[in-house]
Parts: sequence; structure tokens; C-alpha cells
Amino acid sequence: MKHLFYGGVHPADKKALSAGLALKKIEEPKQVIIPMSQHIGASATPLVAVGDVVKKGQKIGDGEGLCVPVHASVSGKVVAVEPRRHPNGKMVTSIIIENDFQNTLDTTMIPHEEAASLSREEIIAIIREAGIVGMGGATFSTSVKAAVDAKIDTLIANACECEPYITADDTLLRTNAKQVISGIKLIAQAVKPDHMVLAIEDNKKEAIAELKKLLANEENIELRELPTRYPQGGERQLVQAVTGREIVPGQLPSTVGCMVFNVATCDAVYKAVCLGKPVTERIVTVTGEAVKNPGNFIVPTGTPMEEVIGAAGGLTEDVWKVISGGPMMGLAQPDICAPVIKGTNAILCLSTAQNGENPNQTCIRCGKCLTVCPTHLQPLYMNVYTKKKDVEALEQYHILDCIECGCCAYECPAKLPLVEQFRIGKQLVREGKKS
Ligand code: SF4
Ligand code: SF4
Repeated sequence: MKHLFYGGVHPADKKALSAGLALKKIEEPKQVIIPMSQHIGASATPLVAVGDVVKKGQKIGDGEGLCVPVHASVSGKVVAVEPRRHPNGKMVTSIIIENDFQNTLDTTMIPHEEAASLSREEIIAIIREAGIVGMGGATFSTSVKAAVDAKIDTLIANACECEPYITADDTLLRTNAKQVISGIKLIAQAVKPDHMVLAIEDNKKEAIAELKKLLANEENIELRELPTRYPQGGERQLVQAVTGREIVPGQLPSTVGCMVFNVATCDAVYKAVCLGKPVTERIVTVTGEAVKNPGNFIVPTGTPMEEVIGAAGGLTEDVWKVISGGPMMGLAQPDICAPVIKGTNAILCLSTAQNGENPNQTCIRCGKCLTVCPTHLQPLYMNVYTKKKDVEALEQYHILDCIECGCCAYECPAKLPLVEQFRIGKQLVREGKKS
């Protein structure tokens, strides 16, 4: 089948491990760890202190600019404000709340009854106060994106979920597609596009059947089935697949008249506007060959990954690696004490059988990585110059345009850890270091 965007790969999707199962709610955690950084941009400043009693949904951190507020996901008492391990591996200031299991709701959680008559500004303000970010993992502020002043002809709701193993968005659409559609319309009320497209890959048959029913009478929302290919869920790739328009690195989709919102983000917008709920929980796929009972779970933000894995039966003995996210773009966890945050769509537990790492890593210059990079980069040279810490060459090879999709590493016959290298190379460029 013709590819609708440049490059990409088609790995085994492994979604059957967790797809099609009932959505479960995990048991409330005794304690939640709420990091002040769950978004791209400056960290939030804590608004509570040790000893304070907080309610579920209460804003407990906020800041200026790109900063997005964070909220308590349980009611209880603040027992610590201290650095804790974040899924990104760093120590990040976090608010630790001891759950009182009273589920006392904050009084700000009030539904907006006249949702259809809310103005653009009112919807954007509600999205911000609810702490909504790109829930597909991008974690960019949704209110900032929606507020971009540009003529948008096509609003794209992204249901591609192209990474192997992950079925969180698929589960959301199988169980709550109506809410997602309401969320898309609310975002459209703010963005004012000419046309809306709900884009989904053709490997999600049950969700597609549900959407076909619900969208039958929605003239302005087109359901677009796309051939399954990774990384079609990336904004640039999806815009090209849906509209044929190419976005050059550094440009936003809005420069070509598009805006892309993940379907879980649309669901969060519905909940914020129609139910008055900020982001305090999300659907997480717990999957992989090294977890006993894979599935999808509704998880309060701040729940330690260990407890979420426990809800899925725990790890098997031959666990090799636990990843926050998917196998292509996710981050390996040094331990499993880090919490689920707004952008955690999956916890992937891989067994030793999936260990494809090659201790004798040498580039054989086959050039395969060049053919799959969706950003038209030259991974083999980026790898060489990262090792040499040659910042000038890394800039010439546009390493900062790398979206860390992992297509090159997937295709590499030498199994080189290319993405890990590029993360280091990008950091070198950002810091302007030179050996
Ligand atoms: S990880 Fe970076 S270099 Fe490799 S294919 Fe993706 S965008 Fe290209
Ligand atoms: S695919 Fe791997 S081995 Fe082949 S040129 Fe690229 S980095 Fe080298």
C-alpha cells in the first residue's frame, strides 16, 4: 500500500496482548506522587505545603507562560514536598499526598452547563485551568496550542496510536467515543476550523465500527482510516497523511492550516468543560511479555508504576526492561517507583526474549537508517558525530530535528542504540559543548 508520509516502518504491533479487554479501574493508591513538571515548559510552583489538607481536583501547583497547572488526584494530607524520581529519570519536585480515601472533591469542580455557548476565550481558559496537555505523550500545553492565532482549515483528532503494544486510545474509543467526539467539537468551538477529521489506523476495527455509528450524522467530522504505519501519529506525519501538506522542521502544523489533538486530549477537554474535572486520571496500557495480565486501567495521576503493574498481576520472573511509553519512543525506567503522569499512556514490561541489544555494536554502513527516517535525517552520521561530541557537525546534520521516533534503530541491522545516542547528541548541541 502507498505510504502517506515519507519514511517510517511497520513493526509487529503486538496490540493483541491488551486490546479488546474490559477497561478496569485500579485500586486507589495509599499515596500519590504529583510531579510539578508533567508538561513541556517551566515546572509549576507548589501551592501547598507539608501538613496541608487537599481535596481531589484541587490545584496544587501552577506557574507562568508555558507552565500548566497540576491537581491533586486524591483527597488527603500533604506529607512531603521534595524531589522524587520522574518517568524521565530525573529528580523533580513533587507533592506527596497521603490518601484519606474520603474522595472529597474540590469545590472548583463545577460543570459548565451552557457548553455550546462558551466563547473561544472561555474554552481556552477552562482547558488551561484543567491542566490539559497533549495526552498522547507530547505533553505540550493544550490551551497554548489552541490559542495560536492562525486560520485553521483542518482540525485533526489523532487516534492513530501507532506505537506497538499501546492500546489506551483504542480502549478510550471503544468505551467512550461519544465523549471524545464532544471534546473535538468543543476544541473546534475555540479553534474554528472549516473541517474536522478523526484519523485512525486501520488496525482498530472495533473502535472504527463504534465511530462509524456515532459519526453517521456528524456532517463536519470525517472519519479517516489510514493504513497502519509508524510514526503516523507524529504531528508532521499525520498532517501529511491526512492533507498531503508537508511541514518543515521548526514549523507548526498551524503554518499549513492544521491543528492536531490526540483523542485522549479531546476526552480531557470534554471532562473539563462538561464535568468540571481537571486532569487527575488517565487510561494506561500495562502490557508486554513480562507482565502477567496485560490490560488497560484507569489510573489516578501520581500512582507509582509499581502499583499499576501490580494491578496487572505483577511482573514475570524473566523481566528484562520496564518502559514508560512504547518500545519506540518510551523511556526505560531505572526502577518502577516513578509515578504515572498526564502523558503516561503505557507501561511496557519486556522479557529477556525481547532483548535485541547487540554488545558488538559497529555501524556496517548499510544505509538502511537513511531510508526510514521520516525527518529526512542521516542517522549514521549523527551517531558518528555524537560519539565524537562534534557539536558543529551535529548541528550541520540537524540533530535537533530528530523526533526520537526510533525508526532508524528499529531498522538498523547492527542494533545500534541510535535514539539513546541522539538524546545525548541533542543535549550536547543544546549545551553548546565541544570536546
Ligand atoms: S530517531 Fe531521529 S534520526 Fe532516527 S528515524 Fe527517527 S527522526 Fe530520524
Ligand atoms: S542502519 Fe545501522 S548499521 Fe546501517 S548505516 Fe544506519 S547506523 Fe549503520
